[in-house]
Amino acid sequence: DANGSVSRPIRTNTVAAEDDVTQFTEYRRLKTTMRQMQLTGCPNPFFTVHDGIVGDTTVIDGKEYISFASYNYVGLSGHPEVSAAASDAIQKYGTSVSASRLVSGEKPIHGELESKIADWVGVDASILMVGGHATNETTIGHLVGPEDLILHDALSHNSIVQGALLSGAKRRPFPHNDYEALDRMLTALRSQYRRTLVIIEGVYSMDGDFADVPKFIEVKKRHRCLLMVDEAHSFGTMGETGRGMSEFQGFNARDVDIWMGTLSKSASSCGGFIAGSQALIELLRYTAPGFVFSVGMPPAQVAAAMASLNVLAREPERVTRLHENSQLFLKLCQEAGLDTGDSGGTPVVPVITGNSLVALRLSNRLKKDAINVQPILYPAVDESAARLRFFITSEHSEEQIRFTVERTQHHYNELCESTAASLAETG
Ligand code: PMP
Repeated sequence: DANGSVSRPIRTNTVAAEDDVTQFTEYRRLKTTMRQMQLTGCPNPFFTVHDGIVGDTTVIDGKEYISFASYNYVGLSGHPEVSAAASDAIQKYGTSVSASRLVSGEKPIHGELESKIADWVGVDASILMVGGHATNETTIGHLVGPEDLILHDALSHNSIVQGALLSGAKRRPFPHNDYEALDRMLTALRSQYRRTLVIIEGVYSMDGDFADVPKFIEVKKRHRCLLMVDEAHSFGTMGETGRGMSEFQGFNARDVDIWMGTLSKSASSCGGFIAGSQALIELLRYTAPGFVFSVGMPPAQVAAAMASLNVLAREPERVTRLHENSQLFLKLCQEAGLDTGDSGGTPVVPVITGNSLVALRLSNRLKKDAINVQPILYPAVDESAARLRFFITSEHSEEQIRFTVERTQHHYNELCESTAASLAETG
């Protein structure tokens, strides 16, 4: 003030200092959901501990179950050649590359795998990143900014949405798989923005349906946008030899600007990749924060992915078996009157119960029949879309598939009847 003394700021509002996590609204909400789950009497279906390698079967608490809950689509996690390649790489290069590749973490196998992936996808170049989620986040977050527009499928994976939020671009979802709605949105919005990035997935991981990618290519060319396709669930699974959506739908992979994939599923490793033009990959190699400021992929993971792709190229019958199993599973579910939504012969088959409690109880009853399948409950999906989600692998036998669908139908019918009876009782 005028005579030089320092006055104390007066506290006028009393906003609570949130320095106790147990008081966070988000934490309280989580605890409420967990209590509700406990009231059903079913054990917690999350963080189940699995022993050993998960293939067509898995071991939980010493008991063997038929497994429909892992992404080991073509049975390569635990394949002796893949495990040996990972061990050899550790012997040769250690367990970490101990630096960003840009500085001193580069190993010969990084570039070799990147060339292999580019060939596999059918484009010029690719870049590896340490996580699939991180790949989407950093790539989307980096390639567009506040002057740009992102239009993404309404059922996009969390990593796509997170990337879009990070970018600061204007973000609008378009109705699931609806390229005509996208076309209309682009007509209205495109001219107001510098760059427009359209993002879709190959196979959708909740519903097991897929995009008509050639139609999206037509739309993106008409409006001069960038098109990005996330192949997490289609890389190694779709197309006659597992090359992905371009092989499955018969189009030139170069018509998609940005291919994204994860190595955690068919490639039985960990990490993600972006594949596309030389210029795109060069830009990301020198400037994408999640690549430049992050350690290079560990040698064992690089070698495992490389060996998986080698085995898959040599044994395309793994993909054939996966397709046959997926189609059989879907057909039997449909014949049994189960609601599989729009699943279209991909390795993801949902059985929609439309009620979280029924989904939870159904998965619990199947567990007693030695079948392990994950329930997907509200709020992960809308309550009316609660479901069991079956991941099919090339390793399942026809007998395992027939038994599983028969037991699912049996328990589901019983649960529906008992739910109807208890509703009638309560009037
Ligand atoms: N994209 C999609 C469509 C996914 O389903 C997933 C994970 N299931 C990811 C990205 C992230 O991949 P990762 O689990 O390998 O980090």
